[in-house]
Parts: sequence; C-alpha cells; structure tokens
Amino acid sequence: MTIARELNPNARFLMGPGPSDVHPRVLKAMATPMIGHLDPQFVQIMDEVKEMLRQLFRTQNELTFAVSATGSAGMEICFVNLLEPGDEAVVCVNGVFGNRMCENVERCGAKLIRVDAPWGSPIDPADVEKALENCKPKLVAIVHAETSTGVLQPLEKIGQLAHDAGALFLVDAVTSLGGVDVRMDEWGIDAIYSGTQKCISAPPGLAPVSFNEKAVEVLKNRKTKVQSWYLDLNLIRSYWQGAKRTYHHTAPVSMVYALHEALRLIFEEGLEARFERHRRLHEKLRDHLEELGFEFVVAPEYRLPSLNSVKIPPGLDDARIRRRLLDEYNIEIGAGLGDFAGKVWRIGLMGCSCTENHINMLLSALKTIMYEK
Ligand SMILES: *Cc1c(COP(=O)(O)O)cnc(C)c1O
Repeated sequence: MTIARELNPNARFLMGPGPSDVHPRVLKAMATPMIGHLDPQFVQIMDEVKEMLRQLFRTQNELTFAVSATGSAGMEICFVNLLEPGDEAVVCVNGVFGNRMCENVERCGAKLIRVDAPWGSPIDPADVEKALENCKPKLVAIVHAETSTGVLQPLEKIGQLAHDAGALFLVDAVTSLGGVDVRMDEWGIDAIYSGTQKCISAPPGLAPVSFNEKAVEVLKNRKTKVQSWYLDLNLIRSYWQGAKRTYHHTAPVSMVYALHEALRLIFEEGLEARFERHRRLHEKLRDHLEELGFEFVVAPEYRLPSLNSVKIPPGLDDARIRRRLLDEYNIEIGAGLGDFAGKVWRIGLMGCSCTENHINMLLSALKTIMYEK
C-alpha cells in the first residue's frame, strides 16, 4: 500500500473572501490536548467563548454560542428554528448570500417575499417598507456585509421597519463581525449569525450565533418540530446552556479552542482599534488600486473595508492573473461570483490578512504582472 506524503502546502497569503490568515497563536491553540466535550474544563471554555461572543456581537443575549459547522449552518439554524411551514418571510437580496437566504426560506416551506436591489448597491429601506404593506411576515432577513459585492448595509432603519410590522429582524454578519462594528442590541437585531474564517481569522468550522428573548419566544411557540435534528435550538440549548449540560453532539473541541484564542486576540487588540485598522488599510489599498486604474464596484459610503470589490480593467486576463498571483507570489484573491464572474475581483482585508505587508505584497506583485503583461 502506498501512503500519501505528509501534508506540506505552500504558506499562502489569504486575501480573498475567506478563509483569512490565521494567527500562529490560534493554530497553536488547536494543538491543545484533547479533552471531553462534557469535561468541566471544556464547559468552562465554552462559557468563556459565549461571554466573548456576547461582547463581540455587543449583546446581552443569554442564547449566544457557536454552532458546530460553518457560516452557512449559522444561516440555516436561524431559518429552520424561526420559520414554520406557511409563515411569510421578507428577504433582502443584493448578492449571492441574500439569494441563499431565499433558498432557506423556501426549504422551510415558508412564503418568500423578496426585496431586491442591484448587485453592488445597498437595499433601499423604502422598498422594504413597500413590501411590508402587503404581508405579515414572521421575519425580515438581510445581509450586513455582502461578500459577493462588497456592500456594507446600513441596518437600523430596516430593523425599525421590521419591528413596526411585528416581525423579527435577522442579520447575516458573516463578513462584518470582527472587522466592522456590529451592534446587535442597539440596532434591534433579534437573531444573528456569523462565521469564524472571515474577520475573526480562525479556521472555518464554527458559526457564532445569538438570539434574543423575542426570538426564543418564537422558538418556544412553534407548533411544529424543527425539521433539522442537528440544528434544533431546543436540543442544542441544553448542551451550550444551563447548569447541567447534556450531550447533543460531540463539539469540535479543537475548533472551540481556536475560536477561544482568536477572540482573545480580538479583545487584546481592542474592538475600536481593530475596526480602525480595517478602515485605514482599506483606504490605503483603495488609493493604490485606483492609481493602478481599478474602479470600485460600490459607492464610497457603502463600501465594506474587509472586502474590496474592484472592476477588472479591460485587457487584463482575470483567471491568468489570479493564477499567477497564487503560483508565483502565494497570494490568493477572490474571483467574481454570480453576476460578477469574470468582471470583478474581490480583495479581502480580513483580520490577520489586514496588514500593511499584505497590501504591499499584493500591490507589488500586481504591478509586476500587469506591466510585463
Ligand atoms: C462566507 C459567507 C457565508 C457562508 O459561510 P460558510 O462558512 O462559507 O458556510 C454566509 N454569508 C456571508 C455573507 C458570507 O460571506
């Protein structure tokens, strides 16, 4: 029998839409010895993760924890627990992840009401208001940071409209959490989900989530069982919450170690300092890219610092340049998705990938490749 050779991938600089670079302290935390998922020491670590996540989401919500799967499971846990067959749900769509939310609503057997905006533009609250005149939805869902386009969506007005209509306000904060401010309680967000591999800079594999009392009430008042056993919050709650923890699934212990260390790094830096770093370096990258002839997809006031979408100038070979960046310089940037395929590059400045050095390396490599053609 032949044995595959030991893993030895090149060290890359991850400047795409995620995963982002992971701090050595986080990688080291993952090598911490295994303990049981019900070990009192592990329960203590889970409690610390919950408390740090509350601070990151800026919420007091008791039900705040990390789902044992990627960001998409964070999305799914929200929809399958909050919606029942026959409910109505308003979903705001201006990119790939809004579309994915629609897919979730339909699979829950709920009636979907879409509010669309062009890719690269934010959702207009007036359109949400109009949609709410003709329905009585259980929730209004929206993406805070659309990773497919680089739009940072203002949330407060739409949250207010959702509440005025008696609906829950559900937010995707996968590419915003840890890179730009997310104020769950202040902005009236009832349920939120994120992922570990974007601005939190841990490996992919967990989805931080939080639900307020109103969302928990909706869950308690369900007439039907949650159709997903693995994502049933009623069951998961008894593992992540309370004095007596009961087995639901075996938590990915090493991933929780990683998230614990990544969150410690975030609070050592300080939230304000971290958001300021993302803003400042986004501006630096923007200035240099514009000098090179790149044009941003999104208007300045709605630009997401952690994901820079730029139009590929005519004459540049999209796939070939991205491949050369990877092969010759070990730099990964993101291709355009969906409507933007072949037209746009997505350059991530997320967490540990948001440094002066990353920007200098990318610009230098790009200039070399572009000028020699
Ligand atoms: C990445 C992403 C997701 C999905 O997360 P996965 O970890 O890939 O499952 C959902 N929403 C947004 C906005 C994202 O950027």
